[in-house]
Amino acid sequence: MNPVHILLVEDEPNIARGLIFNLEEEGFRVSHVESGEEALEAIGTHPFALVVLDRMLPGIDGLEVCRRLRRSDGRLPILFLTARGEEAERVEGLLAGADDYLTKPFSLEEFLLRVKGILRRSEWYRPEQGREERITFGANSIDLQEQIARTPQGEIALTDLEVRMLRTFFHHEGEVLSRAELLSAVWGVSPDTETRTLDNFIVRMRKYFETDPAAPVHFLTVRGRGYRFVKKGAYAP
Ligand code: CA
Repeated sequence: MNPVHILLVEDEPNIARGLIFNLEEEGFRVSHVESGEEALEAIGTHPFALVVLDRMLPGIDGLEVCRRLRRSDGRLPILFLTARGEEAERVEGLLAGADDYLTKPFSLEEFLLRVKGILRRSEWYRPEQGREERITFGANSIDLQEQIARTPQGEIALTDLEVRMLRTFFHHEGEVLSRAELLSAVWGVSPDTETRTLDNFIVRMRKYFETDPAAPVHFLTVRGRGYRFVKKGAYAP
């Protein structure tokens, strides 16, 4: 099996050296660039499994790299590195499409945990070869590849986040997914953040796809445990 290929975008040589050494020790293959321009070029030419992206870079900065990358590829995971105490930057990074972030200085142990966590999650929601990307339930038919849902209310263009949430539900049909699992699979954030966002998303799914959003039969709340998607409709025979 080929080693997992990671792109490291970091202009501080000492930090880069430490990260490369430890990633390679763990069996990853690492390509290292020092500017946003080089990062975009490398991403355009190699299929990476993960980008570790420093916020402060000469030229095009990390945030802009993140935004451009997201426009061309919704799935390539990004671990964003920010300077200490810059809360706004961390949020900016997540809004720009990063999957997770680390604040400098961080321990190498923490870094490797985050890297492995992101890779595990991206594996979890990535569509597998030949996996069904169209699904029909109730009166709805959804094409995840095309990001289109056909419902009795008409056609809905799905956002990337909606597609990620639906894909997660469909691939785990009938299973209870905890809030933590959904948050990390769909948003790539730790479970203590953005919990309202998750609930709002479920409300939206029900509005789109349930005949009676107040009495859902597909997107079910499992009290105290999380949510469950049922294709057949919970009350269907
Ligand atoms: Ca830097």
